[in-house]
Amino acid sequence: MRILVTGGAGFIGSHLCERLLGEGHEVLCLDNFFTGSKDNIAGLRGKPGFELIRHDITQPILLEVDRIYNLACPASPIHYQYNPVKTIKTSVLGAIHMLGLAKRVRARVLQASTSEIYGDPQVHPQREEYWGNVNPIGVRSCYDEGKRVAETLMMDYHRQNGVDIRIVRIFNTYGPRMSVNDGRVVSNFIVQALRGEDITVYGDGSQTRSFCYVDDLVEGMVRMMECPEFIGPVNLGNPCETSILEFARRIIELTGSPSQIVFKPLPSDDPRQRQPDITLAGEKLGWKPQVPVETGLQKTIDYFAALLAHNRP
Ligand code: NAD
Ligand code: UDP
Repeated sequence: MRILVTGGAGFIGSHLCERLLGEGHEVLCLDNFFTGSKDNIAGLRGKPGFELIRHDITQPILLEVDRIYNLACPASPIHYQYNPVKTIKTSVLGAIHMLGLAKRVRARVLQASTSEIYGDPQVHPQREEYWGNVNPIGVRSCYDEGKRVAETLMMDYHRQNGVDIRIVRIFNTYGPRMSVNDGRVVSNFIVQALRGEDITVYGDGSQTRSFCYVDDLVEGMVRMMECPEFIGPVNLGNPCETSILEFARRIIELTGSPSQIVFKPLPSDDPRQRQPDITLAGEKLGWKPQVPVETGLQKTIDYFAALLAHNRP
């Protein structure tokens, strides 16, 4: 098949492109390089079947494809809050453009949605039926509400125009190719630990997250895309929940770092707890994460250690 991956030069997108190319598909990787990088796809460029398109999905584009994975959107709070209006445009106009394209060429389109659509959840763990608890006017809203509208657009194009859609709600995912400056907790803690710098825990560290290794996530995304009937939304994540303070201690232990934990102010609207209920993914896709957190973290630590050693003068 001919497959378009928007945000294909980003962290998750680059792993997805690699997987799809490995399966023998033609892959069109579209990116504006806001948070993605050419380094992420360096191993794919020049391979038969791989094509890179520098494009911003806030602008329409005409292509002929069979599948569209719509991942283009900055995912780290520091990056999506850098230009919040642009973030909303990317989610909303990007979804409209990808759905319009899917409608025209009769492609199937999968939207990379997020656990953030549950906001600061009052139901725990989060199931797909939960409508969420999102602040519409806060600093995270540009991302959360943009992603919620993208889900609405997916459902409306499906009901109104019969567009073939899939929606996955991705929970915190980590792994190699996260950028050193990404700003999310996994890369921050590992890079700080490897450099012997203070580990910055925001708030008292009692807030929780559940971390999924990127290979597991990509497997779930591909299964969902090729699932014959079920359109979602479906949660994809690893239910293995940890507090952020506990997570900081684990990174110190795994890296053997002399780093100290320091506490910084909690950003506003930071969700208190987050854990996916993945029963539906199990039933519909036969999917559950396979990579133990220790194994995934070790691979990620090795990746950053090599990267930092390479960049050291
Ligand atoms: P990322 O920032 O590494 O990747 C996003 C990619 O989209 C980057 O390559 C960036 O340059 C590109 N992009 C941004 N705006 C664009 C635009 N206007 N036009 C074209 N390209 C644009 O983040 P990621 O972690 O790889 O996330 C990928 C997708 O998965 C995002 O949609 C994100 O919301 C979703 N997601 C990720 C996580 C996670 O934990 N990683 C969790 C939930 C949802
Ligand atoms: N966090 C932290 N220190 C950091 C970066 C993040 O304590 O250096 C916290 C953050 O406040 C949040 C959790 O870790 O409670 C996950 O943050 P991240 O930005 O990775 O993702 P999200 O909040 O979108 O789940």
